[in-house]
Amino acid sequence: MRPGIRRFGIVALAAASVLSGAPAPAARRKAAAAPAAAPPAIAAEVLSTRSRMDDDLRTLCDEIGGRATGSRAYEAALEWGKEAFRRAKVDSVELESYDAPAKWEGVRAAASVLQPRRFPLRVVSFGNAPSTRGTLMAKLVDAGNGTRSDFDRLGTRARGAIALVRTKPMTSFDDLFAEYLAGPEMLKAAQAGGVAAVLFTSTRPRDLLYRHTITFDGTIIPLPIAQVAREDGLRLARLLERGLDLTVSLEIENQVGGPWKGKNVVAEIRGSEKPDEIVLLGAHLDSWDLGTGALDNGVNCALVVEVARAIASGPRPKRTVRFVLFTGEENGLLGSRGYVAAHEAEMDRYDAVLIHDIGDGRILGYFTDGRPDIHGSLGQALAPVSGWGAAGMNDEAILGTDNFDFLLEGVPNLIANQETARYLADYHAASDTLDKVDMAQARKNAAIAAVAVSGIANAPTRLGRRQSRAEISQVLEKSGIADQMRTYGLWADWESGRRGRR
Ligand SMILES: [Zn+2]
Repeated sequence: MRPGIRRFGIVALAAASVLSGAPAPAARRKAAAAPAAAPPAIAAEVLSTRSRMDDDLRTLCDEIGGRATGSRAYEAALEWGKEAFRRAKVDSVELESYDAPAKWEGVRAAASVLQPRRFPLRVVSFGNAPSTRGTLMAKLVDAGNGTRSDFDRLGTRARGAIALVRTKPMTSFDDLFAEYLAGPEMLKAAQAGGVAAVLFTSTRPRDLLYRHTITFDGTIIPLPIAQVAREDGLRLARLLERGLDLTVSLEIENQVGGPWKGKNVVAEIRGSEKPDEIVLLGAHLDSWDLGTGALDNGVNCALVVEVARAIASGPRPKRTVRFVLFTGEENGLLGSRGYVAAHEAEMDRYDAVLIHDIGDGRILGYFTDGRPDIHGSLGQALAPVSGWGAAGMNDEAILGTDNFDFLLEGVPNLIANQETARYLADYHAASDTLDKVDMAQARKNAAIAAVAVSGIANAPTRLGRRQSRAEISQVLEKSGIADQMRTYGLWADWESGRRGRR
């Protein structure tokens, strides 16, 4: 998940505070006198001792671990997905392949200050960044905040140098979003200035390192770029401010390959009455590899499998439910893009696509991604969980997770709107490990997802219709996604019809 809307944090937090606000005394008394109706059977099944969610997640995070697409752990994760769906007793499970523009796996990164006095630096390569050719030794220059004017100011001093980019601490989704938005311009400016490599200061304190990409289409970044621990980066900045000449060594080794075929795990439970209509529940299986991808997004993969198990154990749904564990999400939504391309001909038959990608945060409802027209039908599907505060609807549209290519096809697409408070601290970081997961909350989220999916799959009418290209365009412009697509270099493919509904 990349935060993809301008006021994401504010919207999510505002919604959270409304829903979690302490009830008025009268309401509390009423609640005590009349307890909420029992959850539907499907939710009870997820919350029962038969749930395998905890066990599945432990295997994925602790035994397989961080699983960048294309790595050995990613192959093991695909097998995990197949096995887990088989145990869930779905009708079928397959690996489906898609075209990925480049293969990338981090191997190692090391850096030191050599002069005037030697000391080591804690670094990690950016995702999808190239290796250095052996050990790069160069002068360190101060590239300020990494803007175009910062690099312009350096002039010829940038040539062949390693550029230190300063950052502000990241404390909100807005900060994180700003970091992503600034990336492409920083990269262009660094290239134009002729720097040999970039050292980007971590936005998180206490030596916490995380992986990012700066390309949004799965391609390889044109120059080596490493993240340096915040404490080291600040020290370097202070030394440069004192006018010291610093020589730095940087060695990055990544395995980088050309175009290849990635794979998604696709499972299915066929519908009893309308098998041609499809409700898709998805989450991305890949993760960055410094941590073990517990919150982002192992917990929601375990959720998808658990919903499959619960649905398979009950009466067959009217419509077909497809469960997809996408990969390549972190490299640029590659798996979901490839899935949509391969299934283009059946897009008319998708009732809804539901994506979960905000960790274990309490579900407040769903983002409709610019579709107020589906409030009525979605509200009905979510009615059984309204007592849990999980039936909220938010019409913001989001670029940043696997709903995106479905949005570009005009298919009703939903993202679980989850509390974000616990998500940011470990986002893409070495600290995203199983111990961070609130399993009780995660299982409740799975119960909510099961209610939503089975509600939509069994509803008398479809959730909503497929939008025309003109309607999709309107959503893109109104939501600000169009501007983000331009910044991230994704607009040309939509405009030319290479991506999205023609
Ligand atoms: Zn994610």
